[in-house]
Amino acid sequence: MYLKAIEINDLTVEYPEVKALDKVSFSINQGDFLGIIGPNGAGKSTLFSCMLGILTKYKGTIRFFGEDIRKSRNYLKLIGYVPQKPVFENNFPATVKEIVRMQLTNNSDRQLIDKVLQQVWMHELGNRRIGDLSIGQQQRVFIAKALVHNPKILILDEPVTGVDIQSSEIFYSILRDLNEKQNITIIWSSHDMDAVHKLANKVACLNRTLFFHGISAEFFENEDLVKQYSEASMQQHMHSHEIH
Ligand code: ADP
Repeated sequence: MYLKAIEINDLTVEYPEVKALDKVSFSINQGDFLGIIGPNGAGKSTLFSCMLGILTKYKGTIRFFGEDIRKSRNYLKLIGYVPQKPVFENNFPATVKEIVRMQLTNNSDRQLIDKVLQQVWMHELGNRRIGDLSIGQQQRVFIAKALVHNPKILILDEPVTGVDIQSSEIFYSILRDLNEKQNITIIWSSHDMDAVHKLANKVACLNRTLFFHGISAEFFENEDLVKQYSEASMQQHMHSHEIH
């Protein structure tokens, strides 16, 4: 079995006005639960866009299970992606089950729909209208959608923004189960440093360059490192407000 799920080498992305990523290199092992932290404008979404094959104008290489993603898009089948704001209008008419069913080519596979809804603790709400659910519950439905194709890697872009504490605890328990019981590699960008500390075994601190990548406890338990990083992030944050 190839141990590395993802290898990123010297990844550089330049937009016309800003270098969003500068020679970022790190790798993610199969089974890792990686928390990516960084202030607004640190390049987290840009990194995900590159990994998902949406942004192709980058320098450097990205490999999934050893294969350069520029050479084939087959790797995308291995990834489940949960976007930042999956919020439906109040009166959106589709039910939870219908939303998940849209992901299926054989849309009569009820067992699979039940299974993925169970994995996100939403099976009892399968017949509810998605627009009537809370943001936290809607996000869980989006994870269920991402699970339909049995992904090896789940990428989540800052979930649980605008969600109450109880809902985020449920969300985190679900992620932990998926990682520990289904052995799904999780890559998750978050502003919540405490949650990253509690959940992730690895952490990547991004701020256009990679400030730290490694074992989560080694970062969070090193006060000097955390302080240094927070100060650098704050400066970046203020700078990004000055120029925009
Ligand atoms: P994050 O997700 O960490 O907030 P982003 O990847 O969204 O960071 O943004 C990194 C930097 O790149 C920011 O300065 C942002 O303004 C800029 N940026 C992001 N997307 C684009 C784009 N499509 N065109 C030009 N600049 C962009």
